[in-house]
Amino acid sequence: MADQEKKKVCVIGAGAAGLCAARHLAANAKFEVTVYEQTNEVGGTWVYKEQVGLDENGLPIHSSMYKNMRTNLPVQIMNFPDYIMMHAQQPSCLGHQEILNYLKDYATHFDINRYIQFETNVEHVKVETSSNGQDIWLVEVKKLKTGETELGYFDAVMVCNGHYFEPNIPSIAGIETFSGTVLHSHSYRKPDVFSGKTVLVLGAASSGTDIALELSNYATRVYVSSNYKKRAGPLPENLEQVMGVVCVHESTFYLRDATTVEAVDAFICCTGYKYSFPFLDENCGIHVDDNYVSPLYKHLVNIEHSTMCIVGIPTIVLPFPMFHMQVQYFLALLEGHAVLPVKSEMLEDSACKTLRKKHAHKLMDSQWEYNDSLAIVAGVDRLPLFYKLGYTEWAQQRDRNLLRYKDSRFVISDNGQNVEVTLPEL
Ligand SMILES: Cc1cc2nc3c(=O)[nH]c(=O)nc-3n(C[C@H](O)[C@H](O)[C@H](O)COP(=O)(O)OP(=O)(O)OC[C@H]3O[C@@H](n4cnc5c(N)ncnc54)[C@H](O)[C@@H]3O)c2cc1C
Repeated sequence: MADQEKKKVCVIGAGAAGLCAARHLAANAKFEVTVYEQTNEVGGTWVYKEQVGLDENGLPIHSSMYKNMRTNLPVQIMNFPDYIMMHAQQPSCLGHQEILNYLKDYATHFDINRYIQFETNVEHVKVETSSNGQDIWLVEVKKLKTGETELGYFDAVMVCNGHYFEPNIPSIAGIETFSGTVLHSHSYRKPDVFSGKTVLVLGAASSGTDIALELSNYATRVYVSSNYKKRAGPLPENLEQVMGVVCVHESTFYLRDATTVEAVDAFICCTGYKYSFPFLDENCGIHVDDNYVSPLYKHLVNIEHSTMCIVGIPTIVLPFPMFHMQVQYFLALLEGHAVLPVKSEMLEDSACKTLRKKHAHKLMDSQWEYNDSLAIVAGVDRLPLFYKLGYTEWAQQRDRNLLRYKDSRFVISDNGQNVEVTLPEL
């Protein structure tokens, strides 16, 4: 196909989502792909950085990885379906370096590094209408080494900038009177600096639980504060689950049930992240309200300008396999193999259906139906069954044994129709 007939597609970010987008675009002669990545390597959040704050180019550190982080999913179900290279059965959860190596290998295997412009920050994206009535995307980038800016024109944009870099920090009355350490999990790196301290961890989702358990091996006492139901099952002796924080006075934290936690040395907010697209011009039509991103069809396609998508918005999912489905679906739309429904139907799909907007993109059990719906319309293979079986079994194992679930043995049967998760004897 002649170069001028190819659709020019811009991918923003070279984390797992951006690499997946580039892999599928590069395999299709109808597309010409350009990936912009602000850092100097692929892998996104899996690139562990000891430093916090700003990087050498003056940009906020993107990665939220901590030193001893081990995946909370067995790596076999983190594999992209077209690159099954992580086979670990026991331990089935690996460190961040192994996942980064996998992503680097994926990029090499599919020969996509050559499409990536590193140390290139996307600063501004806006849409214009071309003479033939099509959307045309203007992408302004800054070359971080030279400070030069460049403008690119594209037929489509795939936003893959990650969703775990902009900390969500709650405002807590009286926090200014607390003279101890305050940090968000985005800037948490190592547990040893908390040796001998009393630490209050706010938030009991994945990171909060993981970090609190790690800290319990170093700190004198760890409190995990949350308004959600307490976890059942054994926990370390020096770890206590308490209610949410209402306010603070000096080193005393006042909780929702009128109890207090005294003599706190460090307060770590594991309160999640905000979706953030600082480079999107208002004319792109994307709004974020209390972490609800709209208007997106299938949590993915910009309904106002359907040649733009945002990959990776759904939460409580298997991220890499879902990226694989989202990317193929969007490419099928660009190619014209798949068509979007009428706008009213898309807006209905995009409407917030949860009580609180911030839960609008949580998929959980519905992720399988979601992935299948993308596959069907795109005319591509569905995810193999072992992803669903493995994810479901694993969630149960985690609930049963929070302390040791990461050490479980995870075996997928040869025919992929069964998954066995077993805890080794102590
Ligand atoms: C602490 C932690 C633990 C996790 N554990 C697991 C786990 O066990 N299993 C699992 O499957 N998932 C886990 N995840 C989820 C993880 O985020 C996803 O698996 C996945 O890596 C996200 O990929 P991404 O490409 O969407 O985002 P990212 O990995 O964040 O990549 C985004 C990329 O975009 C670049 N970028 C951003 N803005 C710009 C810009 N303006 N210009 C140019 N480049 C830009 C960034 O530099 C980055 O390279 C974890 C996440 C965190 C934070």
